[in-house]
Amino acid sequence: MTDNRIGDGALFSNRQLGIKDENRAPSPIIEHAKGSKLYDVDGNEYTDYCLNCGVNILGHANHNVVLSAKKHAERGICFGATTKAEIDLSRYLIEKIPSLQKVRFVNSGTEATLSAIRLARCVTGRRYVVSFEGMYHGFHGLVPVVHHQEQCCDCSSSGMVLPFNDILAFERAIEKNKNDIACVIMEPVAVHMGIIPARPDFLTAVRDLTKKHGIVLIFDEIMTGFRGFPGCVESELGMVPDLTCLGTVIGGGFPIGVYGGRADMMRWLAPEGNVFQAGTFAANPVILRAGMMTLRLMNENFYKALNRKADRFAQELNMFFEEHQIEARIVQWYSMLSLRFSKRDVNDYKEAQNIQRPGLYTEMFQYLLARHIYFPPVATEPFFISGKHSKADLNDLADAIKTFMKNKGDERC
Ligand code: PMP
Repeated sequence: MTDNRIGDGALFSNRQLGIKDENRAPSPIIEHAKGSKLYDVDGNEYTDYCLNCGVNILGHANHNVVLSAKKHAERGICFGATTKAEIDLSRYLIEKIPSLQKVRFVNSGTEATLSAIRLARCVTGRRYVVSFEGMYHGFHGLVPVVHHQEQCCDCSSSGMVLPFNDILAFERAIEKNKNDIACVIMEPVAVHMGIIPARPDFLTAVRDLTKKHGIVLIFDEIMTGFRGFPGCVESELGMVPDLTCLGTVIGGGFPIGVYGGRADMMRWLAPEGNVFQAGTFAANPVILRAGMMTLRLMNENFYKALNRKADRFAQELNMFFEEHQIEARIVQWYSMLSLRFSKRDVNDYKEAQNIQRPGLYTEMFQYLLARHIYFPPVATEPFFISGKHSKADLNDLADAIKTFMKNKGDERC
């Protein structure tokens, strides 16, 4: 059963495909999920490469995570008071993430970035928020959602959106507005424009200039945190921002957001300081226990096996594209991958836009869905491999992409 009247609130709605209402392909209505598979209400099985925006890194409904949630739910679902779960998970995160001296748990990534930006504004007494084109930090409106062409962002008077990886543009903008800029927020690996890592010299310039002018640097590691190893990009780079936002995998499939960083800044938050931030459902102990269980299960061996699977998959497809002179490439950051219809290197949003072939991608998405493969419907969104994707799952996906791309090549000849 499918229904094309609903589903627009879902992560991957047909609307994102840019298909007019009357021509919309209906979305499957999901009934349950296990491991690498989703099942719709008619019992159709799909291999899931969206994993709810990469949240389900262990695969759906991991036995130990579900048991932990059940066990802790039976002991009381929420208390509105500090719990041992909060202390344990805070300690774990502080140990793994260099910038974290103190942390706060919230209910989503959007809330984490919103709270971090608010804190930066209060600490600096400045208003401007610098972000980079094509990055996504949530829908709160403090940072525009460029790739969704949002119209109603309230940041026109206080936001500056700069090209990513462009040192000169960054230096000029900072020099001109340094006394008004509260913070720079960025993903050190830009996830929503086809996986583009920040160039090391760009990151160094951002860190140096923000430090020099007392501007708060916020890393949004909501997608990259704990994705490839027990840490995040800043752990790998040895570059410490002032504040870091985390989310997705840390809640074990439940809603979560985390922000934290320098203790002197975090002390501005109530009750120690005067910046009020609260949430009825924040730091929910059931979620924090499920998250802690998830992080414990992601040990060295887990990451090694998962990253090896992703490496092999990317290598196999890239070799195939090379051999058949197909203008495509798999771009990869550990188990997060993106299919780019170009072999060119891409450094920013404009270049990412220039290589887009939305019609071709939509066709591929529908081709895969017809083969019961659930793939992101938007070309610039990444796809994910979980600990539960089998060799057979990945072979099916590789074969389907190869066949589709080869047929498209043959059609053009
Ligand atoms: N930042 C980044 C980098 C994201 O990918 C997302 C969404 N996954 C968010 C912020 C917002 O998180 P949420 O959807 O949990 O509000």
